[in-house]
Amino acid sequence: MASKKAITDKWNSLGEIVQSKILSNVFCSNCTVTTIVDYDVTSSKNDILLKGKCKKCGKDVARLVEWEWFEHDYGQKKQQKIIPKNLQAIGLFVTNLEEMVTFYRDIIGLETNWKKGEPNAEFQTGECKLIMYGRKDFEKMTSQEYGYPKGNNGTMEIAFEMKTYDDVDKEYRRLMDLGVKSIFSPTTMEWGQRTSYVADPEGNLIEIGSFVK
Ligand SMILES: [Zn+2]
Repeated sequence: MASKKAITDKWNSLGEIVQSKILSNVFCSNCTVTTIVDYDVTSSKNDILLKGKCKKCGKDVARLVEWEWFEHDYGQKKQQKIIPKNLQAIGLFVTNLEEMVTFYRDIIGLETNWKKGEPNAEFQTGECKLIMYGRKDFEKMTSQEYGYPKGNNGTMEIAFEMKTYDDVDKEYRRLMDLGVKSIFSPTTMEWGQRTSYVADPEGNLIEIGSFVK
């Protein structure tokens, strides 16, 4: 039989979030689903058994912590993350893919191999790709409807870092000459960045800024 410490360590390896899920899902013959309180961590063969009281009526209750909880690495091993740190892509769901690709390719100046009629577009933007996919197509693919922002989208921005303050002004002026909608003209901020904002044809905000004078 495993030692008390080994059993407690195993229980604690699940972490608080998983533990609270288990603790709040205990069967009581009076109350049906309840939370177990004043519990002891004991073992039953290879499993952990929690013995305590029903939070609602005080009756003795028990909860077996099935081995599956440990199989899934919810506990300490969860720190071995498999999600890489670098953000690989930002995806925009768009209403008019052709118009959006035209804007980002011909006005902003990003490279893409997109051909008319293709359902999604990918731009070469360095480490983090910018991708686009039609909203209607994505709704069909996931069998769901979504809410979309109207007017200028205040949820997110696409930020481009320019080499210098001067480049911010030049790029902003270039975009204005091409008829792009201005949101915020170049301004030097107290945190040392000179920045500006424009909007794409579907109201997504694009930041053009630099931290270098
Ligand atoms: Zn109860």
